[in-house]
Amino acid sequence: MIKISAEVKALVPNLIALRRDLHRHPELGFQEVRTAGIVAERLGALGYTVRTGIGKTGVTGFLAGGKPGKTILIRADMDALPIQEETDVPWRSENPGVMHACGHDTHVAMALAAAEVLAKAAPSLSGNLYFVFQPAEEGASGAEAMLRDGVLEAVKPDAAIAIHTLTCWPAGTLAICDGAAMASADKLEITVTGTGGHGASPELAVDPVVAAAQIITALQTLVSRETPPLEAAILSITMLRAGTAFNIIPDTVEMTGTFRCFDPKVRERLMASLARTAEGIAAALRCTARVTDEFLTPAVLNDPAVTAIAREAAAGIVGADKVLAPPPLTGSEDASVFWEKVPGCYAFLGAAPADGSPGVSIHNARFDLDESALPIGVEFLVRAARRLLAS
Ligand SMILES: [Zn+2]
Ligand SMILES: [Zn+2]
Repeated sequence: MIKISAEVKALVPNLIALRRDLHRHPELGFQEVRTAGIVAERLGALGYTVRTGIGKTGVTGFLAGGKPGKTILIRADMDALPIQEETDVPWRSENPGVMHACGHDTHVAMALAAAEVLAKAAPSLSGNLYFVFQPAEEGASGAEAMLRDGVLEAVKPDAAIAIHTLTCWPAGTLAICDGAAMASADKLEITVTGTGGHGASPELAVDPVVAAAQIITALQTLVSRETPPLEAAILSITMLRAGTAFNIIPDTVEMTGTFRCFDPKVRERLMASLARTAEGIAAALRCTARVTDEFLTPAVLNDPAVTAIAREAAAGIVGADKVLAPPPLTGSEDASVFWEKVPGCYAFLGAAPADGSPGVSIHNARFDLDESALPIGVEFLVRAARRLLAS
């Protein structure tokens, strides 16, 4: 039996309508002008002190409760993905090539509904509410941009919460990871340089293709042979660029890849091993390798105390048996840069289709979700915020 408060139930028609409206009008990272306008207008109408243009298109809303106390940050992301939507829902994207395929439309709609419920309760609350609507979560460091613009200097929150809608669990569930919730992400570039020449005379050249092939294979041993079996790490070389013709040995091979893990110490160790392996193999084969690494985002690490409170809030809504404690997800999420500064809990909202069929995953052109999950997400944000204020 799912327990949704009367205040949240009353908002469901508006919640669904807003989610569908946002879904029709998706905007890419740092272009969320329409979305940010809706957010700012609604927060302002609810009595929040609104700041816009934080991290380009980010918006914040601050509301003081009736009595002094803690400040709780509630974070939602606003951006969509460069995907041509292939669903046939009536509210499908009207913006060609852009789609809310990661459910950020639901995050905005749920956070605004929670802002409404909490604003009405504010006179009786001890403490403050700080809603943060960030741009450009999808790989463009919108959270970092908001930090640069002082989002955590204007207000100093004591705890943070956020929720991501996912279709790997059915509607009626919430999933909360203890400790790591999502992986850190690095973007790797490796350039192997040899000396080009005729494909028929390899002895007169220094072939970077053969060196690159051995480097790719050897890099897989960093996970399988240098990482303890119970510490997770993922290293994928995903792009290769080399050569111009069938009979030319090229001068260089360029590789791109990604590295994910959950523990900063594992990351530090493997990044050092990666450079050693690439450079060592290249040298053995008379080539050179240059490794450059772009640290995109740290792992999302849930704070134990905040997470315990959020878990209690979740159990009160869907029942303790429907609050899952999954292993961390290998995707990444830049809420982590807020979570590094504010103890937080990043939760997942189950929203697989109601007919029991397996959900289409996020970042897919046919991604769709069960909207009946959305009131649960709102209720979670409201209850978790209230419990954290009272803690
Ligand atoms: Zn995404
Ligand atoms: Zn997402």
